[in-house]
Amino acid sequence: MGAFLHIPTLLITISVACLCICISLVLIWRVARSDVFILYWSLGYFFATATMLIVSLRRLLPALVAIPAPGALLLASFGALWLGYRRFAGRTGRFDRLAAGAGALIWLAVSLTGEAFADMTLRALVNAAIELVYLLAIVWGLLGLHRKTPSTAVGLTIGLVVVHAGKLVLEIASSLVTTLGPAAIVTPSSLFGGLGLIESSIFAVFLGLLQLVLIGQRSQQRFRIAAETDQLTGLANRRHFLDRSLPLLAEASGLGALILFDIDHFKRVNDTHGHPIGDRALAEFAATLAAAAPAGSIAARVGGEEFALFLPDAALIEAADLAERIRGAIADLRIATPVGELRMTVSCGVAGVGEAGRDYDGLHCAADGALYAAKSGGRDRVVVHRGRRAAPAKPDAAAPPTPALVSGF
Ligand code: GH3
Ligand code: MG
Ligand code: MG
Repeated sequence: MGAFLHIPTLLITISVACLCICISLVLIWRVARSDVFILYWSLGYFFATATMLIVSLRRLLPALVAIPAPGALLLASFGALWLGYRRFAGRTGRFDRLAAGAGALIWLAVSLTGEAFADMTLRALVNAAIELVYLLAIVWGLLGLHRKTPSTAVGLTIGLVVVHAGKLVLEIASSLVTTLGPAAIVTPSSLFGGLGLIESSIFAVFLGLLQLVLIGQRSQQRFRIAAETDQLTGLANRRHFLDRSLPLLAEASGLGALILFDIDHFKRVNDTHGHPIGDRALAEFAATLAAAAPAGSIAARVGGEEFALFLPDAALIEAADLAERIRGAIADLRIATPVGELRMTVSCGVAGVGEAGRDYDGLHCAADGALYAAKSGGRDRVVVHRGRRAAPAKPDAAAPPTPALVSGF
């Protein structure tokens, strides 16, 4: 069986596999330096490579190096992997790096004390227990991430780490009932040890491949969000607004409404306060809109100072009320600038599926007509498209309907 599973060969094979993954991760990190989790993962694989190499060469090394060094490197490897998954899940803590290195330090402290140094069983137990803590911490962190954003690759990583942790538990249990012979200090030579190393190599390679998948998926997700989002306001852009609204509109059965917003005299804001303050005002407007948008609705910036809100489940009257509330909130908004407070008003046009139909062009045309009526009616108001007529949400005695209003849309 020794010839069938030649332990040093297995160790060198795992070491080369870990080195390949380490190099691949470094190459990816070089073009995505802000993703520091990739660097931690590559560091984890670097330590794993060194661990396997030293263990395979144990017979040639002095005991003082051969015994504490691989254990410390292996724990540093799991510490770095844990830190990488923690960063990947978007979590940071003041003592993270200390926690990542603590396993290796505890191990060195234990393994270098005289009593533990001579006791292989005790050393194996301490090493496996610390490794288990890191594995469980990885699982815990990934479970939180998986709950928030379910992903097959994260699920598979959790499964893989749990299986590896299970093997460790078995090893801990077996080391509690059997005492390892002195030969085990040099290299594990049993069939059990060989099978354990095969499991370790599958774990190391599959975990690394899953990391590459996770990195690829994360960058895909970033590109998708960037392509769908308006950079200045963080709202959906016009294309994403249409991509999301059109299918909902196609399924609409009577309900559904579109509100178009156009900030009044925005050119004056830029002229008076400058473009950067204008940008801030747009961002403040977007934040007010997003805060008022009900769950399931789609808010977007569809032009320079033009915004849209699609409400898939709202009746026209509900949409008109909401538009009025948003108009009021914008009128109440005060933005501090170096030359005093900046105030804005917005005009809103509202159209409902019940009155304007399910065709997007027709619905948009109706809301746009109502918006035009709000502008020509004096601005800072909501006008609702009502079939053949567009009418102010709240009749304004000071501003009688304009001809455009009366002729309807
Ligand atoms: P109205 O009440 O008729 O809508 O008048 P308005 O000035 O808002 O309309 P107009 O279409 O004449 O001007 C829109 C202005 O919005 C002009 C443009 O410079 C400004 N704008 C468009 N996009 C941006 C942007 O991203 N940032 C800033 N700061 N201004 C922008
Ligand atoms: Mg405009
Ligand atoms: Mg405008």
